[in-house]
Amino acid sequence: MYRLIATLYLGSYYLLRPGRDEGVQLPIAYMDELRRLAAVDGARVPGWLIDAARTQWGERLDGMSMADAVLVRPDSDYGYSRASYELNLGCNYDCEHCYLAVKKFEGLDLAGRRRLLEIMARAGVVYLQMTGGEPMVDPLFAETYELAHELGIMRTLSTNASRLWRPDVLELLTSKPVEKITISVYGGTAEGYDKVTKRRGSFDKFYRGVTAGVAAGLRMNLNLVVTGNNAHELDAMKALADGWGLPYHVYSNISPTIYGGDEVLVAQSPDHLRRRTPFTGCNAGHTFFHADPFGVASICKVGRDPSIPLMEEGVEGLRRLGGIADQLLGRQGGCTGCTLQKTCGTCMPLVTLYRKAKAPLATYCQHR
Ligand code: SF4
Ligand code: SF4
Repeated sequence: MYRLIATLYLGSYYLLRPGRDEGVQLPIAYMDELRRLAAVDGARVPGWLIDAARTQWGERLDGMSMADAVLVRPDSDYGYSRASYELNLGCNYDCEHCYLAVKKFEGLDLAGRRRLLEIMARAGVVYLQMTGGEPMVDPLFAETYELAHELGIMRTLSTNASRLWRPDVLELLTSKPVEKITISVYGGTAEGYDKVTKRRGSFDKFYRGVTAGVAAGLRMNLNLVVTGNNAHELDAMKALADGWGLPYHVYSNISPTIYGGDEVLVAQSPDHLRRRTPFTGCNAGHTFFHADPFGVASICKVGRDPSIPLMEEGVEGLRRLGGIADQLLGRQGGCTGCTLQKTCGTCMPLVTLYRKAKAPLATYCQHR
């Protein structure tokens, strides 16, 4: 199995090492040389690659074959560098604020996942966020993670950490290094946490998972989720993060469900409704996309309609996604001609969900 990946990423060539942020930009001539060598049986790594890997990551490639040292990815002209993939919407918790609403345990079989990941690789995806539901309770989580690794796609995970303590999971995430794990935190004590997840014992699992992840040296950051039921524990959540030495982000604006449902909005803590920073555009649908459990692609997790069934259309279907993004992101409906657009922090797909949910204006719009 390879140590490094040589790939096109946002228009330039890079040498990347799974589990590390920093890359080495490659001149085209060096990438061409790697391509030539990779096609020759038993070829050894060139001297410049040995030097670059040692200097950048302390990685020793001396005398190694190309096949063992570096995976050279073919170019893609689709221009997608990132994607997210909901393996399965099922979850072991039942959080009051969850934007998924219906958390069904269903998704592609292993052959389907291989095909979807191959489509993603052909689309140029270098970084894949594996999410759910809870991705680690998905029965094919490990196999899917390994398939992505095999294809030279680096993985990030969004998880509740309840299974992170398991030795098989830790072995997987360290032997095929994960880029980053983002962990949702639902409280600072068992009382608040378990109330939000509606699962007794969930705080203990989370605590055990994160502690094990820290001990294993995994790269993690925390998403502190504030709701009406745990807002009083925000300081305790921050103290947990500080105790583990992990960076955190406070998430306190509750969104409607992906179907535009309002049932989760009651979880909003009114005192923690934050004004969003002005929205200045995003590359959804152009450089990244989202895939649901059945390989249906959309511009992102919020703007899910129109969508493209990748399992039917293959990678070619993605050619339509940029146009869909332009259509979804343009201000429309009640936002057309709004004079406050420049200071509005809610992108159009999110506004559309809030409107569908008939949410109070104060939760998303400046015309409150
Ligand atoms: S929710 Fe809005 S800002 Fe976020 S990725 Fe989608 S379009 Fe972009
Ligand atoms: S302030 Fe309100 S009306 Fe104006 S663009 Fe934002 S959501 Fe739309």
